[in-house]
Amino acid sequence: MPKNSAADVIESLVTPEVRALSAYHVPGSDGLLKMDAMESPYELSADVRGEWQHFLKSVSFNRYPDPDSKALKRKIRSTYRVPSGIEMILGNGSDELIQMIAMLVGSTHRPIIAPSPSFSMYRQISKMLGCGYVPVPLNKDYSLDSSSMLECIERHDPACIFIAYPNNPTGNCFDESAIEQILHTANGLVVLDEAYFAFCRKSWMSSIQSWENLIVLRTLSKSGLAGLRLGMLFAHPKWAGELEKIRLPYNINVLTQCSAEFMLDHFDLLESQAEQIMEERGKMFAQLSKIPGLKVYPSEANFLLIQVEQASDLHQALIGEGILVKNLDGADSGLQSCLRLTVGAPDENRALVTAIKQINS
Ligand code: PMP
Repeated sequence: MPKNSAADVIESLVTPEVRALSAYHVPGSDGLLKMDAMESPYELSADVRGEWQHFLKSVSFNRYPDPDSKALKRKIRSTYRVPSGIEMILGNGSDELIQMIAMLVGSTHRPIIAPSPSFSMYRQISKMLGCGYVPVPLNKDYSLDSSSMLECIERHDPACIFIAYPNNPTGNCFDESAIEQILHTANGLVVLDEAYFAFCRKSWMSSIQSWENLIVLRTLSKSGLAGLRLGMLFAHPKWAGELEKIRLPYNINVLTQCSAEFMLDHFDLLESQAEQIMEERGKMFAQLSKIPGLKVYPSEANFLLIQVEQASDLHQALIGEGILVKNLDGADSGLQSCLRLTVGAPDENRALVTAIKQINS
């Protein structure tokens, strides 16, 4: 007798929510200028790369890494001037930290909520874990719809609210007083995801001392270290204690611990690269604003959201010109005709703007 088919067993064992999901898709980028994923365009200089390789010589591969990443945490604490009384959890990217939070509080009957459009992993992770997920549409100009948000909180009493600050993919920081109102109203966790902190330098970190249910997330991914996969979570010690139970042992591998420590010793380099990106963002914004039929949204992150008729055609034509940007056209309600352009090095940005002008003319 043949056994049941995989499809039959999957149907009986995998939840309908997971079956309805698509795996996170990363488009191929071979031979293309990569301006789709908010990576830094800057490679290490030969000198710094040499120093880093020298530093790695002391790493032991036969032993597990320090399970608590003690030396790295000390360095993060001093680099980011983390106030005392705030605890830290590190993740294999902040994606993993988002997952840990959802695993910790998402199995209650209370849903996870987030503004929409926002970072797609809030929804993806909620769905994969079987948590309820309620998106709250932003206003047409992508500002936070405060009254809808508060109404949603009152109605659903969410376990957790994710707010990206600045928001991905819209690039704006939501109004501070609207966020404060959310902190006042929510009974559950409020997570301020500061993935793009390097390009706006506004933070809710010190507010953790007043709001015990506030969690702040950061990442090194946007600051030139996407390949290391290091996310940072800052929280009240009580929350950190609970999250520690969810964290898998040794989740930060020895190469990441060692390399991140090394790079934080060169933090001024990362900061000056972020400053160049901010300067380039301003130039790109001005140039794109002049293109007829194209709307560009102000951004406090390392990307710009543009809206243009036939966005999918423009996306395809840019690939033809050797440039990959992110096509959001139809990805989510509120993002019709939108593309997201990562700010790169000056020559890359020039190539992108020139190509858009040519294609649009
Ligand atoms: N939060 C936001 C708002 C993001 O945009 C991203 C990456 N696109 C992440 C978190 C995940 O970053 P990481 O590389 O640290 O997993």
